[in-house]
Amino acid sequence: MAIELTAEERAFLAAHPTVRVRINGDLPPFLFQDQGQVRGMSIDYLTLVLKRLNLTMEPVDIGGFAEVLKRLPTGDGMDLQPVTRPTPERAKEIGFTRPYLSFPVVIVTRTNADFVGSLDDLNGHVVAVEKAYWYTTELQRKYPGIELKIVDSSSQAIRAVAVGEADAYVGILAVAAWQMEKNGYTNLKIAAPSTLSGAEMGMGVRGDWPLLTSALDKALATITPEEHREIRRKWLPVKSEFGIAPRQVMLWGGLAAGGFLLFIAMLILANRRLIREIGRRRAAEQEVRASQAIALQMLNASTDACMLFDVDGTMRGFNDVFAKRLGVDPATILGSSLWSYFPPVNIEARKRAVAGVVASRAPVTLIDVRGGHHLSNTIFPLIGPDDRVRQVIVYSRDITEQVEAEARIQAHLAEIKRSNAELEQFAYIASHDLREPLRQIANFVALLERRFADQLNDEAREYISFAREGAKRLDNLMLDLLEYSRVGRGEQLAPVECEIVVAAALDNLAARIAETGAEIHIAPGLPTVLGAKTHLIHLFQNLIANALKYCSPERIPEVRLSFTIDGKVVTFSVADNGIGIDPVYHDRIFGIFQRLHGREEYEGTGIGLAICRRVVDQHGGRIWVDSVPGQGSTFHFTVSLATG
Ligand code: ADP
Repeated sequence: MAIELTAEERAFLAAHPTVRVRINGDLPPFLFQDQGQVRGMSIDYLTLVLKRLNLTMEPVDIGGFAEVLKRLPTGDGMDLQPVTRPTPERAKEIGFTRPYLSFPVVIVTRTNADFVGSLDDLNGHVVAVEKAYWYTTELQRKYPGIELKIVDSSSQAIRAVAVGEADAYVGILAVAAWQMEKNGYTNLKIAAPSTLSGAEMGMGVRGDWPLLTSALDKALATITPEEHREIRRKWLPVKSEFGIAPRQVMLWGGLAAGGFLLFIAMLILANRRLIREIGRRRAAEQEVRASQAIALQMLNASTDACMLFDVDGTMRGFNDVFAKRLGVDPATILGSSLWSYFPPVNIEARKRAVAGVVASRAPVTLIDVRGGHHLSNTIFPLIGPDDRVRQVIVYSRDITEQVEAEARIQAHLAEIKRSNAELEQFAYIASHDLREPLRQIANFVALLERRFADQLNDEAREYISFAREGAKRLDNLMLDLLEYSRVGRGEQLAPVECEIVVAAALDNLAARIAETGAEIHIAPGLPTVLGAKTHLIHLFQNLIANALKYCSPERIPEVRLSFTIDGKVVTFSVADNGIGIDPVYHDRIFGIFQRLHGREEYEGTGIGLAICRRVVDQHGGRIWVDSVPGQGSTFHFTVSLATG
């Protein structure tokens, strides 16, 4: 928009292209120093109008405001004060532009303060104010009942309320809103408007330059509503917690009566919202704190070390175990780099692992050995609400004991395997090789009996028969031992039809079955299992033979072979109606050479069931017995079903 300047004004501006502007002052957001620079709403307005008038600004530093009032009438060292309040008194000596900033004076209290609707409610209370402002003087004069706490700056005054040193702050709305937001004082609210004169601020110009004043005034008039909004938005960002949009209450060129009422209504509404919002926030914060405390207790209850860090390794959380394990002061951990706790050789690999987890979003477990400890570290990605992985959590478990126990078990297993192999070898060689001299003894005893039959008396013959029986028994023992050691020699398992296996076992036992007149019941449809045929024949044969052998003298022996299938597991059961076994011996009977009866009672070597257990072991199954002494026994064993 073109500025319609008079010829005089134009000539004046051309003759005075530089304006000395006093830039010191501390009233944010209007004018303040920020890192050595002057900033604020008034500077933005000034920059805009100076540009429009083709003027340049020369910043000058002039002491206090009293000094300004002294120098400005004659332009002694300065030409312009960017923000000041016109009074009739001052206007006699100083030029003023139209007010371009306009705000009411309001009352700020803590959110939990009793209801404060006006300045009257503050009688007897402590009110913090900045020194040397018109409303401070006005307040002092009009409300002598209020105890004033006069401080140097608005930030000090507002802080006094926030920390409870004062009950309220009275000051300019924009200043209050700015301080509350900048310092994050969520415990403060704008409680009510005051009746004190509001801030109507314009620019103060040296008294002898009325042409600059009028030119500035014209330039200010060309500022568009858009530009005003822009500046206000920049300095009073509307934050939801204020609930009020300051730009709606900042009225250009003064507050009309209607506007002021509207402002009050909005203020009250906003405060209600603010109080509700703060209540909700407090409750939410309490909830968050409570759940954080629970989470921390849970983590500290763990025996795993736990750490949370950003993907670049910056530590963001940890539990007690972590600090203790590393022996570092917990106060130094947050914000430190995780990598600083690793031996240098491990760092690159660990960084790669973390990068891998971030990329794949899948947890990874790594085993580490540090200081003689085995650590199992599981790295989990933390997927944020925006679906990105910025943090990672690691649980580190000390598995040293587990690893050592495992190593001990493996060592024992190897030792057992070795001594078992030796024993098997020994049993095989012993039983095999000892049979030869035994056979020789038996042969010569038989020869003795035959050749010298007529020379032997009854006693000698009886001795010879004892020797022959002894040799026979020893041979049986050797044969059983040989069988036992053979089972251990590992055999390939293949599908075996149990119909055939059981038929073979019964065939081998045919004579004994006929002798005892036993009844044998075989369940129909015997399955095909995964096994070693010869060993399985022995297994069935041993169990059925025992059922026939340990029969009750009072009844005809009955043997029942049945089976059940559960998934891939077949359980066979061989039940008899014999003498039964006392539960005390249910485990022992499967040991080698374990017998419950004397030879005179029942013939046997005590190896049969040991062979059975070995066969079942080789088939990856289990064998056990149920029995009621005097009524009978049932031997069960499991094998795998052949599939396909
Ligand atoms: P053996 O029959 O050669 O003595 P086993 O190892 O086959 O050796 O059996 C061990 C012991 O278990 C037997 O001495 C016997 O006391 C007991 N036993 C085995 N089978 C049965 C059965 N079906 N009924 C009662 N007792 C049994």
